[in-house]
Amino acid sequence: MANIPGCWIGGRSVDGSGDRYEIDDPATGAVVADVGLATAEDVDSALAHARSAFPAWSTATPAHRSTVLMELARLVAADVDGFVSEEVTQTGKSTRLATEFDVPGSIDNIEFFAGAARHLDGKAAAEYSGEHTSVIRRDAVGVVGSITPWNYPLQMAVWKAMLALAAGCSIVLKPSELTPLTTLRLARLATEAGVPDGVFNVVTGTGVDAGVALSSHGGVDLMTFTGSTPVGRRVMAQAAAHGTRVQLELGGKAPLVVFDDADLDAAIHGAVAGSLINGGQDCTAATRAIVAESLYDDFVAGVAELMGRVVMGDPTDPATDMGSLIPVAHRDRVAAMVDRARDAGARVVTGGRIPEGRGAFYPPTLIADVGEQDEIYRDEVFGPVLTVSKHHGDDDAIRRANDTEFGLAASAWTKDVYRAGRAAREIAAGCVWINDHIPIISEMPHGGFGASGFGKDMSSYSLDEYLTVKHVMTDITGVARKSWHRTVFA
Ligand code: NAD
Repeated sequence: MANIPGCWIGGRSVDGSGDRYEIDDPATGAVVADVGLATAEDVDSALAHARSAFPAWSTATPAHRSTVLMELARLVAADVDGFVSEEVTQTGKSTRLATEFDVPGSIDNIEFFAGAARHLDGKAAAEYSGEHTSVIRRDAVGVVGSITPWNYPLQMAVWKAMLALAAGCSIVLKPSELTPLTTLRLARLATEAGVPDGVFNVVTGTGVDAGVALSSHGGVDLMTFTGSTPVGRRVMAQAAAHGTRVQLELGGKAPLVVFDDADLDAAIHGAVAGSLINGGQDCTAATRAIVAESLYDDFVAGVAELMGRVVMGDPTDPATDMGSLIPVAHRDRVAAMVDRARDAGARVVTGGRIPEGRGAFYPPTLIADVGEQDEIYRDEVFGPVLTVSKHHGDDDAIRRANDTEFGLAASAWTKDVYRAGRAAREIAAGCVWINDHIPIISEMPHGGFGASGFGKDMSSYSLDEYLTVKHVMTDITGVARKSWHRTVFA
């Protein structure tokens, strides 16, 4: 077991001054590291470093910031095995997923923001009787505080930190105490790549301690949070004490709507992949299949058959499709929700029982015939659980898709371009896929509506969150008396 410092502050490893905390491998239950947790005092220290590093980093040229980020992408690419191994050990996800999704997606995102760093220019316009020129400055918002969850630890850290660095902000990032390893590794490599000391700081701590200290701190200019809806709302309330700007990426309950003309085989494959990715611990995962009556029975049979072929087990085995959930307490919460659904009369078609043995495993689970008011249909499960219910035509399908407080992601399956267009327009979600479910790319924004939060990660839209807009107006005539003065004195 490694005894590692839980923080990266001012360009070096520092142990948190709080209690020691054991990080488990959720697939085996083995303790893999022991970290000192950050306290409010460590958060203060990290924010002080971030504040003093901000002026130099925010005024560095975009070209310089870009070069540093490109170097970081190179260092991460040279250390793929290290990142994959730690990501798998701390989350229980399969090595295949970490190798093909988490780590390459993170490298691509770093490279994207290396490019974006050079596209921060404002817009200029001559105006007001030809006597002035206006320029829009887009400046770094300042010190960013960021809190991330345990499902995609590396990707979440990259989404927040690379955006901040590209924009010229400094950042204090609090990863989940369950999964800090790859975030700490990323911060160390960022320093090696040339990110100045104090620009990228990490404080591993609990939500109630370091999380509250960070989000309620007056030294934060922008608070960005990815996690559950109830905690996100708490973070917003904590930040409100200082009027701090916030961005929230919260929970989801994505519908997967299958119209009666859909390619059934494609919809079945999409439903299984979209609901089981990362063990379903994905805020955009397909959770509610809403299927045309005429396709319903075949869809249920096809999904159950395909789910039955998914190999669950040792995450490090290349043959494994799905690793464990994280942590055991969360797996038990998922299992309890499925048990309550069964007790309430839903039909568990496949899965739905905790397997024998150690680790936070839970099998692919399909639940049919769910009611619109059932807990399993309305609340976020965050596990490998797909519910399926019937719709009775296009109006009903879209009504059901929108019958949720969440609005993060959705998919519509149809061969009809008009139906697809209607679904894209009328389903209230930050992303609507047509005939697919899950892919995300660095160039496109990610973020939801309603209980899923507001603001965007990734893409050039996300830069707006981390920049201020300032109007600078300059007189270009050099004369004392301007035309508008007539409105004040003749
Ligand atoms: P969580 O809300 O329990 O915790 C998220 C983070 O908040 C952790 O770092 C935690 O330590 C911290 N925290 C907890 N209480 C806090 C408090 N009072 N003040 C400040 N920080 C506090 O979420 P989780 O269980 O780690 O992750 C799962 C959730 O994240 C799901 O709801 C999922 O949908 C959501 N999620 C959303 C997105 C998205 O982009 N919308 C992406 C990934 C995960």
